[in-house]
Amino acid sequence: MPKPILLSVDDDSDVLRAIERDLRSQYGAEYRIIGSDSPEGALDLLKQLKLRNDSVALLLADQRMPRMDGVTFLQEAMHVFPDAKRALLTAYADTNAAISAINQASINYFFMKPWDPPAEHLYPQLDDLLGDWQASYRPTFQGIRVLGTRWSPRSYEMRDFLARNHVPYQWIDVELSASDPETKQLLDALGPDSTELPVVLFPDGSKLLDTAPADVAQKVGLRTRAQTSFYDLAIVGGGPAGLAAAVYGASEGLHTVMIEREAPGGQAGMSSRIENYLGFPMGLSGGDLARRAVVQAQRFGVEILSPLEAVGVRTEGSYRIIKMADECEISCHALMIATGVQWRRLDAPGIDRLSGAGVYYGGGATEAMSCKGEMVYVVGGANSAGQAAMNFAKYAERVVILVRGESLSATMSQYLIDQIKQTPNIQVWAHASVSEVHGDTHLEEISVLCSDSNTTERVPATSIFIFIGALPRTDWLGDLIERDDRGFILTGPDLIRDGQPPKGWTLERDPFLLETNVPGLFAVGDVRHGSVKRVASGVGEGSVAVQFIHQYLSKV
Ligand SMILES: Cc1cc2nc3c(=O)[nH]c(=O)nc-3n(C[C@H](O)[C@H](O)[C@H](O)COP(=O)(O)OP(=O)(O)OC[C@H]3O[C@@H](n4cnc5c(N)ncnc54)[C@H](O)[C@@H]3O)c2cc1C
Repeated sequence: MPKPILLSVDDDSDVLRAIERDLRSQYGAEYRIIGSDSPEGALDLLKQLKLRNDSVALLLADQRMPRMDGVTFLQEAMHVFPDAKRALLTAYADTNAAISAINQASINYFFMKPWDPPAEHLYPQLDDLLGDWQASYRPTFQGIRVLGTRWSPRSYEMRDFLARNHVPYQWIDVELSASDPETKQLLDALGPDSTELPVVLFPDGSKLLDTAPADVAQKVGLRTRAQTSFYDLAIVGGGPAGLAAAVYGASEGLHTVMIEREAPGGQAGMSSRIENYLGFPMGLSGGDLARRAVVQAQRFGVEILSPLEAVGVRTEGSYRIIKMADECEISCHALMIATGVQWRRLDAPGIDRLSGAGVYYGGGATEAMSCKGEMVYVVGGANSAGQAAMNFAKYAERVVILVRGESLSATMSQYLIDQIKQTPNIQVWAHASVSEVHGDTHLEEISVLCSDSNTTERVPATSIFIFIGALPRTDWLGDLIERDDRGFILTGPDLIRDGQPPKGWTLERDPFLLETNVPGLFAVGDVRHGSVKRVASGVGEGSVAVQFIHQYLSKV
């Protein structure tokens, strides 16, 4: 926690040095002592300190300075740090001016030069001022701050990215908190930059304007560049299946890299509570599971590159080569595809335009708290929709689950149906589907088609969360890897037709259980044809596949 600051301003360098020396010897253990020889420079410095979220306890300025006198400086500085105690240094001749300034300009004290001995003429008064200041001082947040607006898709993307990568941050909605003095001071300190939202402020005082996750990733230490160009095992996708493969691969001595497009954790990372994962009787959040798995993988030396997207793959002899969105390539002996599935898009007018501005795919963990006291619609009838509804019910006034069928029983686990029944602020609207969404800059209303009455109802809504099934995005694999007609990857026995191995297969053995039609290229988890779409099965497949990789590598 950085110490609060005592800032003194004097154009006379001897006086400035003397005051800094006396402040440091008495207060240096508890405060940071800073001096400036110009009021203009000090005002710039104060703005920078504001952007770093530093605290200023005392401003001490000489009254007689060229261009700007001490009173004017203190008045200006008050706009940036209104809670700092303000004191003037005056010569005897200026006493009267100082006294009237105290009355006009809310200055807390004035000190006569010279102040020797300080134990008599400086410290007792400063002790009083600083004691007062300490009484109402609350340490400021010392991490990343994100300034944006709730309905901006770019602000949403940034918050979602930071949350899913477990980067702590403070969110400042500049519209909602426009009347908050702290927000005003921060925006003033930013000046014209304050319009370039989202703005991300870092504790070192640097800032990124109108920024995107990839820029922030580098600043917060997420790695997007591989350390070497060759690995024993490369894994594309950092969901439960990819993370399990990474942990097992690296723990068994394979030089392993994992490439993740958004944030480790995958779909599971969006789950508010996974209740059926072995060993966690009280359930655990997907975020927690992901965080633990990442730490475990890193402990074994896995290199995690994120956010980084794999966009192509090819083979050169026994080498498997992955091409990244940034044009870099990584080679490996064994490649594992663990890219899971992505939410299916809801096809209704207005949906794409308002995506991120009231319309969200998936859990929207970052949004749950913003929905406090509001009405929330959840679209879908599977477990993921049920879990999300339970999570939103903790914050929202009411949650309505829109489900096409006549109830949840055909699509949702009984334990969730029971929980939903026992939650008074969740309502299930059966035979209902979203036919259109409305709003100018953000979602304001939705049209719901009621299939039982064949009518359409238009209802007010600020947020809808869509959970309507998912599909693999495997186009980037080109023609290299065999897939079923929905894009899921075929592996092992699924590749054998009429007792024959897949076309182009040259090895004497058949493909291993989780191996694709390309030797040494494996697929695990939800992306695999016929997989059980569960965390435990993804983890199981990721772990088991490593055994086949060892067998494969022993013959390469
Ligand atoms: C809200 C929700 C709640 C759920 N609750 C439960 C539950 O309670 N219990 C349970 O057992 N299961 C649950 N599931 C299902 C479970 O989360 C999935 O079965 C599991 O996450 C699948 O793991 P996976 O690793 O195969 O894929 P995913 O979790 O989908 O991870 C795939 C990862 O690959 C990344 N990726 C994709 N393409 C690329 C690319 N080209 N380059 C780089 N990276 C890429 C993605 O960003 C993603 O992070 C839930 C799912 C959701 C969405």
